Amino acid sequence: MKILKGVVASSGVVIGTACLYAEKVEEEIPHYVIEKDRTKGEILRLEEAIKKAKETMGSMARAAEKLFDKRASEIFSAHVLILDDPVLLERMKDLINTKLVNAEHAVSDAFEEYVKTYEKSELHFSELSHDVRDVRNRLLVSFGNLAGHFECPVGERQPVIVVSKRLTTSMVLNIPKEHVLSFVTEEGGFTTHATILARGYNVPVVFGVSVEVNIKCGDKIIVDGFDGKVFVSPDQATLDRYSNKISDIQKRKAVCVSVKDAPSKTQKGLRIKLKANISTPGEIELLRGLQYDGVGLLRTEFLFLNKETPPSEEEQFNMYKHILEEAKGLPVTVRLLDISPDKLPPYLNLPPQENPDLGIRGVRALDFFYDIYLVQVKAILRAAVFGDLRVLYPMISDMSDIDLFKKLIVSAKTSLKKEGKKFKKSIKEGIMVETPSAALLLDSLIKNVDFVNIGSNDLLQYTLAASRGNPLIEKRYHILHSSLVKLIELVVKSGKTHKKEVCLCGEVASFEEFYPLLLSVGLRSFSVAASKLSSIKCELLNHKRPDKTISKRLHKAVSKEDVDRIFFR
Ligand code: PEP
Ligand code: MG
Repeated sequence: MKILKGVVASSGVVIGTACLYAEKVEEEIPHYVIEKDRTKGEILRLEEAIKKAKETMGSMARAAEKLFDKRASEIFSAHVLILDDPVLLERMKDLINTKLVNAEHAVSDAFEEYVKTYEKSELHFSELSHDVRDVRNRLLVSFGNLAGHFECPVGERQPVIVVSKRLTTSMVLNIPKEHVLSFVTEEGGFTTHATILARGYNVPVVFGVSVEVNIKCGDKIIVDGFDGKVFVSPDQATLDRYSNKISDIQKRKAVCVSVKDAPSKTQKGLRIKLKANISTPGEIELLRGLQYDGVGLLRTEFLFLNKETPPSEEEQFNMYKHILEEAKGLPVTVRLLDISPDKLPPYLNLPPQENPDLGIRGVRALDFFYDIYLVQVKAILRAAVFGDLRVLYPMISDMSDIDLFKKLIVSAKTSLKKEGKKFKKSIKEGIMVETPSAALLLDSLIKNVDFVNIGSNDLLQYTLAASRGNPLIEKRYHILHSSLVKLIELVVKSGKTHKKEVCLCGEVASFEEFYPLLLSVGLRSFSVAASKLSSIKCELLNHKRPDKTISKRLHKAVSKEDVDRIFFR
């Protein structure tokens, strides 16, 4: 048995057959030199292939819209824009004319130059290089029969664990949902478009796994999408352990269906607020028919990605209004654009920064993109007329940060008044507590706002001084730590003293096993990934209750290993 370690992009556990999926166009690209009089013909072939690739992308966009939402289909529209890039086209033609190479060769070289330019850029751009590669592959496929394919026929017949070097958007959409038990890949990222699409399949997705030398077609594997482990050819004891885990999960799922319309409570009847985190308007639809307590965090960054220009006031107004309507009177908390190094729209240029995690993020971006924030707040104030819309300020460190946003709200109201547009005069304001400073100063800060969201993902990275996205220190960034719990306790205490809602919206709230602890430190409001809401609610109703002994043990825990022992062993 081999145990491979990776990074969880979507949770769940499966046992199944591995099937390698290849988009091995690199190795299969024909490379040859042509006669000078054939250059025109090659350029014609190139133009034909581009036309065909665009048609395919058009049908993929339609498929994506059906499967997911409009945002997903926009990914393909963005891909078409890459194909429309005149500089890229000229470079391909130039290579054919001057180097006398065949069209596929020209595509491969020109795109490689393009990818290299992206990869040299900052984190978000380097993730975009995955999209550029995807477009290149799609174009190369259009010359002949080089489409992505399963390397063993089993993948065409039955659901498999799809294993590949990298996850691409076309790959996700090419493989029917019913054939996928899980995705396991070597390369990936939380914010690549492909990962965003794959997460929508609601199957475990683990990337960063060394697949190439370790997994073969037909291998039996277990994917533990909670712990980020992949077991290749597991021994009987491991198989038994995971079979039990899966049957536990299934039993719990079955119970969940019956509690769909029950309010969230613990086994002992303690009422808990359970809200949803969403990133795209389409995700709100996952919540239809479910009793929940509103949207606790709408991450608006994703509305700004995959676009050439920021969404207009009208576009944002319509999106927020749509989400409010879907929420049917429940509160919807819209977080103002939280620009961060890993979620940076391409049109927002920032000067190079030595340490971007500690640089221009959230509130600090106001100085650079004031007009973009103003448009966003105007759209929010207008949409707020249609329901309980609340605004949330990201990356607050102290009172001056809150003041900056409060001034922004005043300016947005003044400008809406001048324009004669209808808007909500008073809107509930909240802050993200995601810096240790905000947690420590909360007793004073909280007086100036209506509610507080704990962003444990960032609070943890800044408390431990360990970046969330750096694979080299991945082990140091632990989902929970005793130092984080102590800060959460402080925040909960301030909330109680000032009678303001404190909602935990970081990833830690999406893990069932932490609830006895989270409840015991006094948390009563949580916002979790929309796809996890039903199972967390179910766990609360049937199994979880506050357990003070865990927090006592955790107070003594001084290392990640101590924490692991409490929760995972
Ligand atoms: C957090 O930091 O916990 C949070 C919810 O915000 P994000 O993950 O978007 O940074
Ligand atoms: Mg955050």
